[in-house]
Amino acid sequence: MASRVLLIEDEAAIADFLVRGLREEGFTVEHCAHGTDGDHRLQTETWDVVLLDWWLPGTDGLTLLHRFRTAGHMTPVLFLTARDSISDRVRGLDAGADDYLCKPFAFEELLARVRSLARRRDGRTSPLLTVGDVQANLSTHRVERAGQRLELTAKEHALLVFFLRHPGELLTRTRIYEHVWDERYDGVSNTLEVHIVELRRKLEVHGPRLIQTVRGRGYIWDADTKGTP
Ligand code: CA
Repeated sequence: MASRVLLIEDEAAIADFLVRGLREEGFTVEHCAHGTDGDHRLQTETWDVVLLDWWLPGTDGLTLLHRFRTAGHMTPVLFLTARDSISDRVRGLDAGADDYLCKPFAFEELLARVRSLARRRDGRTSPLLTVGDVQANLSTHRVERAGQRLELTAKEHALLVFFLRHPGELLTRTRIYEHVWDERYDGVSNTLEVHIVELRRKLEVHGPRLIQTVRGRGYIWDADTKGTP
């Protein structure tokens, strides 16, 4: 199957050139010209390689990349930018970029890097989601905090994964019910509260509270928690 490439780049001339060139090489390419669109497509679809510009309208590339990695996505990202100072390069790589290409670049060079990243992705099968000291393996459902294993029920696991994908974000009851229980919150049920109590109890054996209550609104995974690549 053709590798799916997401290009997030606001300069039309560069975007047209890359979309055409990569399609000719057999890649399936989708393009976003705005940071906010790019963010949405990064979070909701699966890609083999992401080409990401630094300066974008809406949300900048560095922020997009940080969010993408914090949410646990491991898709290879090639950062495209006019910047080429060492400190900028380091910032991009620190935020979770796999590779870095300074504009202007030759198409051949970009193609070689995209191919290399697409191959690298094939070798990355470990579906680990890590935020702070909590790690969830999405295929085995093994969960650890500070290296200690937690025994969670299927619903607790689903709830935890939803939090790990949205650290620092206010998650309303409505949103949690829709995602974890696939049903509408009736405004009365305490099913969620019961699961939160259990999940907190298990997590807090190995460290401080991570799931904070936002009174009358919902819950937030401790905003100070930093994601790890
Ligand atoms: Ca730009």
